[in-house]
Amino acid sequence: MPSSVRRFVLMIIATAFFLPNTQAAESIKVQLRWLHQFQFAGYYMALEKGYYANYALDVELIEGGPNSLKPIDDVLEGKVDFAITGSGVVIDRMEGKPVVAVAAIMQTSPIVWISLKSSNIRSPIDLANKRLLIMPPPESAELLTMLKHEGIDIDQLDIRNTSYRIEDLIDNKADAYDGYISNEPYYLKQRGIEYNLINPREYGINFYSDVLITSQTFAKNQPELVEHFKAATLKGWEYALDNIEETVQLIHNQYAPQKTLDHLRFEAQTLKKLIMPELVQVGHMNPGRWQFIANSYQQLNMTQADAGLKGFLFEADFKPNYTLAINIALGSALLLLIAALIIFKFRKLSQQLHKSNQLLAQQALIDQLTQVRNRRGFLEQAKTVLSQANREQSHSSFLMFDIDNFKQINDRYGHSAGDAALIKFANMLSSHRRQQDIVARIGGEEFAMLLIDADIKSAEKIAKRILEDIRHAVIESPNSDNQFNITASIGIAAAHGSIEEFCEKADKALYQAKHNGRNQIVIAE
Ligand code: GH3
Ligand code: MG
Ligand code: MG
Repeated sequence: MPSSVRRFVLMIIATAFFLPNTQAAESIKVQLRWLHQFQFAGYYMALEKGYYANYALDVELIEGGPNSLKPIDDVLEGKVDFAITGSGVVIDRMEGKPVVAVAAIMQTSPIVWISLKSSNIRSPIDLANKRLLIMPPPESAELLTMLKHEGIDIDQLDIRNTSYRIEDLIDNKADAYDGYISNEPYYLKQRGIEYNLINPREYGINFYSDVLITSQTFAKNQPELVEHFKAATLKGWEYALDNIEETVQLIHNQYAPQKTLDHLRFEAQTLKKLIMPELVQVGHMNPGRWQFIANSYQQLNMTQADAGLKGFLFEADFKPNYTLAINIALGSALLLLIAALIIFKFRKLSQQLHKSNQLLAQQALIDQLTQVRNRRGFLEQAKTVLSQANREQSHSSFLMFDIDNFKQINDRYGHSAGDAALIKFANMLSSHRRQQDIVARIGGEEFAMLLIDADIKSAEKIAKRILEDIRHAVIESPNSDNQFNITASIGIAAAHGSIEEFCEKADKALYQAKHNGRNQIVIAE
């Protein structure tokens, strides 16, 4: 029998025998708690290393953000299969919502009150009469719990819904900001702004965070799948924490190009301390500790309800059914092996194809030299971000940058020194970028920035700071001892009308800045 025919016959036999046992990959949707960052490292690594694929799980990670803060409703309504949320989920459970906790990634919460050093807020009591920005409940429940615990009357506080803009703290529009110890402090440090943190942990409020949840129905109907998802995720976390540098690079390249590598490294080191992989099994949950958290919320009147916690913690009480596999194995051990090999190979190939397709799609939007978005990446994201900003009727501004006399830099110090300048320039822009903003390299030494929710005045302020940074930055030539400085010219236009229109306006303003002698800002009329 020729080998191709033999293979075909084997395939038919294998298919007939094994179809019931080798299901097609299950698709699983996971709602992340916030924008892509190290906070979700374990999920990325479980995908990357094939831990999900090993269980035939086809996992889609959905980025979170200010508009997706109803993780509990999302899982209960079946919009997603899993979500990540805070310890406040226990309040919802006591109020009778059928939500189930699968794992607690952080043994202690990264959520803190952040204030500027100049405002002299050092302890919870100092927050009285101050303007506090906080996320809607149950997010950040530990921050209010701490205040209650300290005997502060929450009803007397000036609590506002967060704007998600640390800028509001810097610009004195608020006095304290609900942030992550692993995130905002880095921004502030980068900008040389001194700050204070009030950490609930130091006031006896030590709760879980980043809790992986699903709905009770899903956990009951598919316990095996939930167990598999949990096992693969925790394995992903272990890998990520053991290989921080590799993980940081992957997140930067594939998920969060706007976050600098250093920012991600800072986040990784900070979160690792809260996950405590050396002390406890990642994801570990203790029923007693959950009860304590629930009691704390109750005692401090965060909820009156008490539906109890029975069934809140996911328990895998299923027995895998191997009978079919055993029968078949007994019937024909050889056939099993061959079939498994064929299936393995096919799955592996299709996984590889899927992965390289994803990578290609990402690369098409990212500039390989500077790792910020390219022109196409810019246009694609700008459309989405602007339509949302328009809906919310907020003002946005568009900045166009061109490095001055860049040709001379290439000529004098070499092309690779020019490249180093481009990388430094992109990093500098990224460090001024807030969560919604876009930074892109749109031409050789031309960059663009779209500032969301920033009028021309604040755009000019940011542009001035950027120019200042650029003037002071020292660029080191990679191939020699040469060090040099650069300057840039900036054109600013309000991001009104079509993208083409405001690009052209900013471009004209930029041309004017060049004409006026470079190293300056011009605002389009
Ligand atoms: P101006 O102040 O008027 O902008 O002067 P300029 O010298 O910057 O003018 P121009 O825009 O004509 O020069 C841009 C130069 O950027 C030309 C090109 O050789 C260089 N360039 C474009 N892409 C790259 C790159 O990826 N790496 C390096 N090193 N140089 C690049
Ligand atoms: Mg140019
Ligand atoms: Mg130039």
